[in-house]
Amino acid sequence: MSFASLGLSEAIVRAVSERGYSEPTPIQLQAIPAVLSGGDLLAGAQTGTGKTAGFVLPILQRLSTTTPQRPAPAGKRPIRTLILTPTRELAAQVEESVRDYSKHVKVSSTTIFGGVNINPQIERLRRGVDILVATPGRLLDHAQQRTVDLSTVEVLVLDEADRMLDMGFIHDIKRVLKLLPAKRQNLLFSATFSDEIKALADGLLDNPKLIEV
Ligand code: AMP
Repeated sequence: MSFASLGLSEAIVRAVSERGYSEPTPIQLQAIPAVLSGGDLLAGAQTGTGKTAGFVLPILQRLSTTTPQRPAPAGKRPIRTLILTPTRELAAQVEESVRDYSKHVKVSSTTIFGGVNINPQIERLRRGVDILVATPGRLLDHAQQRTVDLSTVEVLVLDEADRMLDMGFIHDIKRVLKLLPAKRQNLLFSATFSDEIKALADGLLDNPKLIEV
């Protein structure tokens, strides 16, 4: 099975092969078609399985082949995908992957996380991005200051959701969810499935496809 036969465009497949991947990993084989179908997804996957490309590639496919469902006011680029991660290291790493996989398509991204000056982030958000990778706390700071508008989000990804809960982010996540439109695609990735994760998934996901590797 090749990346092209999973339904990804030539421009995305080219970026993937330039990165040196010859074939999809098991999680990618399952996640890519599931995400392309537009439905919700509950994925059990550890790091090191290739889960990042499993959600990034089909999201890039969607964003590069469709116009925004919800245009932003003032002709700005609307944020169409929000990826939440537990740590700034993971946020930076995921955004680096987004950048690399999107090099041949017109999709822009940035990352915002705490512990660094907020002003360059405000400036970058002002210019508009398609994909925002964020940690929950700093994202809420921006929301409070109205320097981010999440009302146009079409796809939400919770990456390493179990770590986010372990780090005590459940209330922050719930506050973020309230800022998103009700109709959207939700993807939840977690290495483990505690009762707390199951409760979060129950409240968040609509008839999700389940995949585990
Ligand atoms: P992840 O689980 O997303 O953190 O990815 C783990 C590692 O696998 C990363 O270094 C990726 O660059 C690499 N990787 C992802 N997809 C593939 C693939 N299809 N073939 C080979 N390596 C991959």
